[in-house]
Amino acid sequence: MKRISHWIDGKVVESTSERSSAVFDPATGEQSGAVDLASVAEVEAAVASAARAFPGWRAASLSQRAEVMFRLRELVDANRKEIASLVSAEHGKVLSDAMGEVARGLENIEFACGVPQLIKGDYSEQAAGGIDVYSIRQPLGVVAGITPFNFPAMVPMWMFANALACGNTFVLKPSEKDPSVALFLAELLAQAGLPAGCFNVVQGDKVAVDAILEHDDVAAVSFVGSTPIAKYIYETGTANGKRVQALGGAKNHMLVLADADVDMAADAAVGAGYGSAGERCMAISVVLAADSIADELVTKIAERIPAIKVGPGNEPDNEMGPLITAEHRDRVKGYVDAAPGEGATVVVDGRSGADRDGFFLDPTLLDHVTPDMACYRDEIFGPVLSVVRVNGYQDGIDTINANPYANGTAIFTRDGGAARQFQFDVQVGMVGVNVPVPVPVSYYSFGGWKSSLFGDTHMYGPEGINFYTQAKVVTSRWPDPSTSTVDLGFPETR
Ligand code: NAD
Repeated sequence: MKRISHWIDGKVVESTSERSSAVFDPATGEQSGAVDLASVAEVEAAVASAARAFPGWRAASLSQRAEVMFRLRELVDANRKEIASLVSAEHGKVLSDAMGEVARGLENIEFACGVPQLIKGDYSEQAAGGIDVYSIRQPLGVVAGITPFNFPAMVPMWMFANALACGNTFVLKPSEKDPSVALFLAELLAQAGLPAGCFNVVQGDKVAVDAILEHDDVAAVSFVGSTPIAKYIYETGTANGKRVQALGGAKNHMLVLADADVDMAADAAVGAGYGSAGERCMAISVVLAADSIADELVTKIAERIPAIKVGPGNEPDNEMGPLITAEHRDRVKGYVDAAPGEGATVVVDGRSGADRDGFFLDPTLLDHVTPDMACYRDEIFGPVLSVVRVNGYQDGIDTINANPYANGTAIFTRDGGAARQFQFDVQVGMVGVNVPVPVPVSYYSFGGWKSSLFGDTHMYGPEGINFYTQAKVVTSRWPDPSTSTVDLGFPETR
């Protein structure tokens, strides 16, 4: 049985906690490994290693730090298939999807290669007579990342690329459900020339998370996961004096107006609803269909579903893999079981997928869903698409804005004015116009609003650079000492 351990001070370290958690191949349902669960002492060892490495790494020149990122970029690029296979084996997503995850993660490393430019401050000469003022951005120290199961390669790259490039040292606590990729990335970082201790991995559960949140030497925490845990991380971390960004769950709506191209909207809804078995925080889970096209749209979505090839992620033709665990599959299925009793119609029923080995559920389509139903209220995080019928733009926007989640959303229309109004009105962090999964490119930043984000900084891109650095402003003069006098007045600039 494969044992998955920690990475501390530049090497694999086996846990002595005598606690572990099973790792599964979701396509077969069989256990493929066991991951060590860190003790508090093991988290302390990782933080101590990062704290020791910090003075040297922050003193490394910008060119040296950028060089490590450039080398890492080449290594991740050369190992795309290897990383994607590791993702697919433990997460279950199909290889093509895992390759996409690696590609989008890699973009964050490419962004971080530009750190000498990104971290530049401002300089104002002659802010007052003979006085210059300039700003610099400095790293925070030891920073931690706590990541979810659904993007075991990309989400860590969202965090550590910018954090390290800015001169911080890093402790990663990956999801215990698919922990192997983190160790592989640690090895690539070492090969790229990152000094030992700058990047550590502690495998674990709540024990490790709480040890991170309580550790005095951890300056900041980045979290991505479900809303209740994100709220907990934000409240506990900030109460302990840390800078925290905690991205939570989602319920993403796609509004299809009456003038939309219905075939294009159906293609988009199927791709965005069932891609990665719906286990994406940017998946579309609700289609808001304008009444006049709703029947046609539901028919066209339903027609496309049988063509989706569901099966093990490592078979190249498959388009959708299993869910992460049997418990999660059963929970998702439970929403479909309950939907008719609440008044919804099961148009395409994927529950028979659960009869197969592994943690499968086939794509499912619910119609006549209303906002009071559990399948609408909760984040399902599975291959279940709900259609809510609306009587036009205003009804659609009101429904989206009443939802407590606000991660992503999309409008499908041929009316540029309606799309512009949507962008203006909608209270959601990431918006697509005829783009169903509007994950921002790495040189913008990623984050939702409302219950999808706790904290005020979005992740990666320019906001990531701000999150991982603190600003310092220097006011400087080099006067002739012979002109020096005592002056108790408040300094003025004119
Ligand atoms: P999760 O919240 O269960 O776990 C996330 C991390 O928190 C893991 O590392 C886990 O070990 C840890 N954790 C779990 N329970 C904990 C507890 N009680 N105390 C302390 N730590 C705990 O999330 P998940 O199931 O791994 O991932 C799916 C969720 O993540 C979905 O809700 C999805 O929407 C969300 N997500 C959000 C984004 C985003 O950018 N907003 C991106 C990806 C995933």
